[in-house]
Amino acid sequence: MATKRDYYEVLGVSREASQDEIKAAYRKLAMKYHPDQNQGNKDAEEKFKEVAEAYEILSHAEKRQRYDRFGHEGVGSGVGDFDFSHFDLSDALRIFMQEGFGFGDIFGGGRRRGGPRQEAGRDLQVTLQLSLEEIAAGVTKKLKIVKLVRCDECRGSGLKSGAQPSTCPTCQGRGEVRQVSRSIFGQFVNVSTCPQCRGAGRIITNPCSTCRGDGRVRGEEMVEVKIPAGVATGNYLTVREKGDVGPRGGPSGDLHVVIEEKEHPLFVRHGNDVIYDLYLSFPELALGVEKDIPTLAVDKDGKELPPEDTNRYQQVRIHVHPGTQPGKVFRLRGKGLPELQSYQKGDLLVQVKVWVPTKLNPREKELLQELSEMENMQPPKKGKSFFQKFKEALNI
Ligand SMILES: [Zn+2]
Ligand SMILES: [Zn+2]
Repeated sequence: MATKRDYYEVLGVSREASQDEIKAAYRKLAMKYHPDQNQGNKDAEEKFKEVAEAYEILSHAEKRQRYDRFGHEGVGSGVGDFDFSHFDLSDALRIFMQEGFGFGDIFGGGRRRGGPRQEAGRDLQVTLQLSLEEIAAGVTKKLKIVKLVRCDECRGSGLKSGAQPSTCPTCQGRGEVRQVSRSIFGQFVNVSTCPQCRGAGRIITNPCSTCRGDGRVRGEEMVEVKIPAGVATGNYLTVREKGDVGPRGGPSGDLHVVIEEKEHPLFVRHGNDVIYDLYLSFPELALGVEKDIPTLAVDKDGKELPPEDTNRYQQVRIHVHPGTQPGKVFRLRGKGLPELQSYQKGDLLVQVKVWVPTKLNPREKELLQELSEMENMQPPKKGKSFFQKFKEALNI
């Protein structure tokens, strides 16, 4: 495992930093390294993950306390021969989204200045829930967006029919106002958007009765979005000019579609890998068995089946050898999720678990009793004890 930097150092705060300071530091760094600001920059992605992980620990009082006392080991990964607790980009994006930072934070807001211009419509944000199968294959969705649409009565002009807009008396049509102030250092000119016409240079004295001069009314629009395969919670797509239309014919804002992954009854996602728990009985493990494992690819005959039905999916057969121990992981290469904007694919990890019966009839009890006393049923005396293995896994 690579050595990790100190979490306080990562966020650039002191060990005594308050929760507010930690949040502010995280926010600033997360904006800077957010993948949307740094397309394809692996270095930035690593930094983004690093700050998210540091924030995840330091923003929780209990985790922070453990980290302060024991360092990285105090908050580290799970025990076992397969480490699923590794922190990946989808975790980092999830943490980022949880903090509820707005899109203005990422995109910086602030529109172009100078001269008369039309006010633009607001950007809108919607959440789109996707199943893991949809994420695996990519999907096209039709979304009904409730938004401000053009007023048909005045065709978006905001004017009563036959009326004309008049020049704004405050700015004389320039759309901006200048304020000159003098000081001992000289003269300063402060230019700002005209408060009366909000930059348009013209005002409406005879408004349309339907939209009251705004040029827009409440309505809805169907928007089709194509989601590429491999997206994760917190990823989003921007559909240009599908937000609110601007007042009085101004340009439309954008629509941001934020992806949220639905929990799956069979699979757990880990980055581009997918984990499937395979429950086997003790006799199956001891004697060996062949099993069909569902993959994320939906079978053409399985489309109508519910997501928890394994027959819904294309299956891959695996051979479980006699004497297989619980905890073994079968790695089915390329059967995981596609990596976004790449030809690479993750794996399907089949984790063997042992099913222990919770009720037994007298006959079963008798057989198990008899079996348990036989010579090969006892765990070996030599070899590593459970405690030794545990210590090794923990690296102590
Ligand atoms: Zn109107
Ligand atoms: Zn004006």
